[in-house]
Amino acid sequence: MEHVQILIIGSGPAGYTAAVYACRANLKPVLYEGIQPGGQLTTTTSVENYPGFPQGIEGYDLMEEMRKQAEAFGTDMRSGIAVKTDLSQAPYRVWFDDGSEMTADAIIIATGATAKYLGLEDETKYNGIGVSACATCDGFFYRKKTVAVVGGGDTACEEAHYLSHLADQVYLIVRKPFLRASKIMQDRVLNSDKIKVLFQTETEGLFGEGHLEGAHLVEHTAEGDRRYDLAIDGFFLAIGHQPNSGIFKPWVETDETGYIKTQGERPLTSVPGVFAAGDVADPLYRQAIIAAGSGAKAAIEAERYLASLK
Ligand code: NDP
Repeated sequence: MEHVQILIIGSGPAGYTAAVYACRANLKPVLYEGIQPGGQLTTTTSVENYPGFPQGIEGYDLMEEMRKQAEAFGTDMRSGIAVKTDLSQAPYRVWFDDGSEMTADAIIIATGATAKYLGLEDETKYNGIGVSACATCDGFFYRKKTVAVVGGGDTACEEAHYLSHLADQVYLIVRKPFLRASKIMQDRVLNSDKIKVLFQTETEGLFGEGHLEGAHLVEHTAEGDRRYDLAIDGFFLAIGHQPNSGIFKPWVETDETGYIKTQGERPLTSVPGVFAAGDVADPLYRQAIIAAGSGAKAAIEAERYLASLK
């Protein structure tokens, strides 16, 4: 069975950055790119908050550049998905979707998180042309426009608040008769002139010619359901993220949502030699630059760990 010093699972900013650092430490990393090579950023349009690109850069191009950099230093890049792990003892064992297996002295988990969608066909149809799951990434394109945010938690309230500084009108579509967000976020939303909360309302579909023009909504009232169309230019999902931590859960500690727990500033998991970087361990920020930084940290920690084994 193939054995490597360091295996990186995941190919977003965290995985690629970890690979660059690991290569430069001469650790000859193997990186598995996973279900969506390049990660979440490949699905967004222009990235304008990643330093070094004053004109912004397309998410896909940014990830291509990171990939090339990781390859240039010697990363052994593989396409494939890790489907099972055994982290009960070192060397750690990983199985892939093509049936192959590998053992590794150290592992960096950089599998990211996946934004939850409602599951409507129209979400796919208008993805990138009106539908987004990241206001920080895409809000800028909706300056002086009308947008809707779906969700009633802290993320939804934060996104609605963020968008209210850009858009002319923000609707918050909440399926319950109340918000579940923290009090401070609720106050911010409810006291904003620009945000209108649509309680007990769900989205049945989206419409528009070539781009998003509106949503088919249903409001559940005591008198019955009231269906109507709301004109909007942007539709933002904020109903939570799912960290891609399933195959590690039997071994590493996670929080109740599934985010891998790390030790404060350090990307150490509960298993020695197994590190977690990027969104899979970050319920708070979920930003590319932060994922890249934590990837660097994870590689530095892995280098130290491997040196300690000698
Ligand atoms: P939450 O799980 O807290 O909230 C999800 C929201 O989306 C809920 O209002 C939920 O409705 C709604 N929702 C879920 N599925 C659907 C659906 N299919 N259709 C319509 N609505 C749906 O997720 P968040 O991402 O908001 O927060 C996750 C965690 O991160 C929380 O603990 C939060 O406090 C924390 N957080 C903290 C922040 C901060 O402190 N600054 C910022 C952001 C998040 P329902 O209530 O009906 O289930």
